[in-house]
Amino acid sequence: MTETPETATIKKISQETPSIRSFRLDFPMQAKPGQFAMLWLPGIDEKPFTLTAEGKECAVTVQEKGKFTKALFKLKEGDKIGIRGPYGNGFSTSRVKKACIVAGGCGAAPILLLAEELQKQGIKTAIINGARTEKECLFAERLRKTTHDLYITTDDGSLEEQGFVTAPLQRLLEKEKFDCVFGCGPEAMLKKVFELCEKYKVPCQLNLERYMRCATGICGSCVLGKWLVCKDGPVFNSKQLRETEEFGSKALLKCGKDVPIKEFAEWRQQ
Ligand SMILES: Cc1cc2nc3c(=O)[nH]c(=O)nc-3n(C[C@H](O)[C@H](O)[C@H](O)COP(=O)(O)OP(=O)(O)OC[C@H]3O[C@@H](n4cnc5c(N)ncnc54)[C@H](O)[C@@H]3O)c2cc1C
Repeated sequence: MTETPETATIKKISQETPSIRSFRLDFPMQAKPGQFAMLWLPGIDEKPFTLTAEGKECAVTVQEKGKFTKALFKLKEGDKIGIRGPYGNGFSTSRVKKACIVAGGCGAAPILLLAEELQKQGIKTAIINGARTEKECLFAERLRKTTHDLYITTDDGSLEEQGFVTAPLQRLLEKEKFDCVFGCGPEAMLKKVFELCEKYKVPCQLNLERYMRCATGICGSCVLGKWLVCKDGPVFNSKQLRETEEFGSKALLKCGKDVPIKEFAEWRQQ
C-alpha cells in the first residue's frame, strides 16, 4: 500500500477503443480485482482509476471524459505520473463456484482482473459485455480468453446481439443457478442488474462510483447512504444495495450538490 503519491513511469500506452486507452506503469502494486488507485497529475488533479493489471507492474484503463483524462491522454510513454493505493475492498470470490459477470462500457476495465482471477480459480463463469458499438466494445478478446461463455451486446447491433446486457442476463438467470452476479458499468445498468438478481434471488456484487477526493475515508465526498465508496466499497453486495436508497437514484457532485444519478454521470468539469 502506497499512502502518499509516488512517481511512476508510463511504460506502455495501448489504444483499446477510440475513446479508451490503457496505461501500463513501471510501478509495483499488488491489488485485488476491483481495487483502485489514485492517479495524480501535479497542477491538474488526482483521480480514481481501477487497476486492470497488478503485480510487478500495474495498469489502468481510462475513458477520455474531461480535464484530467484529456491531460492524461496527452502523455507519452516514458512520461511520469503520481500514483497511490490500492484502495477499496474489491470483489469477493469466496464460496463462489459458478459466476456471472456483467460489464457495460468502460465497466469492462474493473471486470478484467476479476475474470482472470475466476479463471485461475477454475470457477465456471458466464460473461456478458455490453457496449454502444463494436468499436467501443472493451476487452472483448481478453475476456473471451477467460471463458467459453461470452455474450456481447451492442446498442446498435454492430457486434453480436443488438440490445442491452439485461436481455442475455435474464435468459441466463431463467435457466441457470449462479452463486453470484458481479457487475460494473453505468449505474442505471447496475440498477437493472440488481433488480433482476433480486427477482431471481441471486446474490450480486456491484462496483459503484461516487466523487472521490481522499480515498481514505476522511473527506466524505464519496458518501452513498451510510457508506463511503472509497472505504466500504467500491464493491457493494445485495444486502448493502437493498438498504441504500441512493443506489441508482442520486449522487453528490464535486461541489457537494445532491443530483440525480444521470446528472452525476453526465457532469463535466468546465
Ligand atoms: C472507484 C472508482 C474507479 C474508477 N475506475 C475507472 C476506470 O477504471 N476507468 C475510467 O475511465 N474511469 C474510472 N473511474 C471514473 C474516473 O475517475 C472519472 O472518469 C475521472 O475522474 C474523470 O475526470 P475528468 O477530469 O476527465 O472528467 P470530469 O469532467 O471531471 O468528470 C467526468 C465524469 O467523471 C466523474 N468524476 C470526475 N471526477 C471524479 C472523481 N474524483 N471521483 C469519481 N468520479 C469522478 C464525474 O462525476 C463525471 O461524471 C472510476 C471512478 C471511481 C470512483
